[in-house]
Amino acid sequence: MERNEYTDSMVAVLDLVATERGRQLFLKSQGKFAYTCSDKEMTHFEALTVLAEEVGEAAHEVNEGIGGRYIDKRRLLKELIQVAAVAVAWSEKVKQEIEEDQT
Ligand SMILES: [Mg+2]
Repeated sequence: MERNEYTDSMVAVLDLVATERGRQLFLKSQGKFAYTCSDKEMTHFEALTVLAEEVGEAAHEVNEGIGGRYIDKRRLLKELIQVAAVAVAWSEKVKQEIEEDQT
């Protein structure tokens, strides 16, 4: 495998993350929330709480499977994609700030 080679599985998941990130922006445009984690108005502390909330929702789905109970894999995947999409949004903000610091 080459350094910048992507598996089909990686591409499929990253596509889901991009779709979720687009959904965040759509929901913002519809007034569902004022900001996403990519916005300069969102503090790093606020972005961390949004990410933590999504991690908590993924944890909840796994917790549902403790003791031999059923884990709803589709719900777990949805929450993990939301974790990744929030991390992408926050990363966009951090990258922008790094670039601004360099100018
Ligand atoms: Mg969620």
